[in-house]
Amino acid sequence: MTDISYKITQMKSWLAAYDGPDISVMEVCGSHTAAISKYGISGLLSPKLHLISGPGCPVCVTPTGYIDRLIGLSMEADTTVVTFGDLIRVPGREKSLAEAKGEGASVVMVYSPMDILRLAKEKPAQHFVFAAVGFETTAPVYAMLMEQLVEEQIANVQLLTALKTMPPVIRWLCEHSGKIDGFLAPGHVAAVTGAELFIPLAKRYQMPFGVAGFGAEELLLAVYGTFRAVQQYRECGMAPTVKNYYPSVVTAQGNPCAKVLVEKYFEPCDALWRGIGVIEGSGRRLKSEYAGFDAGSELLMEDHKKNQACRCDQILMGRALPGDCPLFGTGCTPLHPQGACMVSEEGSCHQYLMFHRTR
Ligand code: SF4
Repeated sequence: MTDISYKITQMKSWLAAYDGPDISVMEVCGSHTAAISKYGISGLLSPKLHLISGPGCPVCVTPTGYIDRLIGLSMEADTTVVTFGDLIRVPGREKSLAEAKGEGASVVMVYSPMDILRLAKEKPAQHFVFAAVGFETTAPVYAMLMEQLVEEQIANVQLLTALKTMPPVIRWLCEHSGKIDGFLAPGHVAAVTGAELFIPLAKRYQMPFGVAGFGAEELLLAVYGTFRAVQQYRECGMAPTVKNYYPSVVTAQGNPCAKVLVEKYFEPCDALWRGIGVIEGSGRRLKSEYAGFDAGSELLMEDHKKNQACRCDQILMGRALPGDCPLFGTGCTPLHPQGACMVSEEGSCHQYLMFHRTR
């Protein structure tokens, strides 16, 4: 047996045999939720260890008011909404962008925000609006787009922003959730911001943060390390810290160029999180000097449930599991989603259903 397979066997044994007081660790990032399901990591855990999905899927936390505003824009004459694919099926108050497109609205799906530059040059008389959702990971790409728009003086492109940042929502969860003992910190976010982003949170709330990657072994290591850190804090008083389990990609300080570019175009603002409400300072908007590139993002403080039985809000806060929702897998499926958590491949309900995950 090689060293690494011996270590993996030891970690799996500890995770399966743990019999102390319950420990709950939240995986904040939607990509981690997907990877944990894909690799069957939750199935390795003792009944006393719990992985809880959090609000890190950007599509899942985008409020209905934002979707409705996109639909309104897409139905205006000479206006095209440009978006990533998973946002198109998220329910707004009455319909999704996909349904609006079926009724004649102008909606185009792209793989990169930079694709909008080509569209704008091909049709200079058309007004294009990019649906700019995402976290710290995606913000640099929108900043790069802004750089091009400003440099090339392209006037027929705007952004409708619903950008979010991680520390305020983690702070909110620590103060309101009540059942989180530690966090798997999002590796993609940390690649931009640096692992040090989470140090003040670890100190303030006395919780360990394991910056995790997305491969099976590195994720297992982060899961094991974070559960162990909670146990060691409880049993020996070892101060919880931020541990970087993704050093091949994440550094302490992150990507300084990306951070500078984002600061150039965006500033912090309050943001509305679907199902949660407004969290102070948890968003990013275009700075006032770039207001001409904003398609009306400040008007988006509305959030309504499509189906009152939907429990997305409780799931995003780590207070319920997808299986607790009466619509899970029956009234709500990936083909007929009632809530945002079933739409995106990173959404908890989608993942739990597709991988038969129960915990
Ligand atoms: Fe909402 Fe559907 Fe999840 Fe239920 S199963 S919480 S309706 S997304």
